[in-house]
Amino acid sequence: MNKKNNIDIEFILVEPSHSGNIGACARAIKNMGFEKLAIVKPRKTITEEAFHRAKSAKDILENAVIYESFDQAIEEKNLILATSARERTIPWPTFYIDEISEEIKGELKSEKTKSAIIFGREDNGLSNEELQKCHIHLVIPTSDEYSSLNLSHALQLVAFEIRKIYLDNNVPISEEKDLVSNLENEKLLEHLMEVLKKIDFYDPKSSKQVKTRIERLIKKIRLDKMEMGILRGFLSKIIDFEK
Ligand code: SAH
Repeated sequence: MNKKNNIDIEFILVEPSHSGNIGACARAIKNMGFEKLAIVKPRKTITEEAFHRAKSAKDILENAVIYESFDQAIEEKNLILATSARERTIPWPTFYIDEISEEIKGELKSEKTKSAIIFGREDNGLSNEELQKCHIHLVIPTSDEYSSLNLSHALQLVAFEIRKIYLDNNVPISEEKDLVSNLENEKLLEHLMEVLKKIDFYDPKSSKQVKTRIERLIKKIRLDKMEMGILRGFLSKIIDFEK
């Protein structure tokens, strides 16, 4: 059986500290028919151990993209899925990996979508700030007593579930929306905060969670390019009006 996934999906490891884990992740990516591995600021170089653990997935390791920062890794992406074993303070749209919504499944299959699945550090996962930059959180339903999996095991399970989505002909490819990139979303957030400050609705010192909640709103609605253009134009008008 040779079922290769024709998918542009990047598996991003944030500051991994074990070279062996990086190799095992490369293997899991290739086993599941994917190709793209990226690393944000690796804490260890890719050593012999990584190549040993990658076995026949050495090409995935050799072609791994290295990013200088988390923001740089997600800049161009328009569907960003973060994996996390823990519940966070501000709840985010979250799915178990085998219960991803049909809408997201369809978008994952679309060639228009630039997707990333992000994995955290072995010692302390992803920060709240990083998690809040993602559209959706994915949880592997592990035991409450010991919920944190080894990094490469987590990636293996997630990659398998994503592979099943690609192989499932009942999931229609969704190509209706021209989704904006994360960079455009970040610019919208800053523009909105500027207007809210200007009209005295928002004071960064007293209302710390407002920005996070607005960020969540932007991530939830998943704007397309046309909607973004209208919103940015509208915000610019408010700023001009105030002058
Ligand atoms: N000790 C860390 C977990 C690190 S495990 C913590 O408490 O946050 C390394 C990474 O593997 C996590 O950041 C996450 O990306 C992934 N992972 C591990 N267990 C997971 C689970 N049950 N669900 C989803 N992702 C998981």
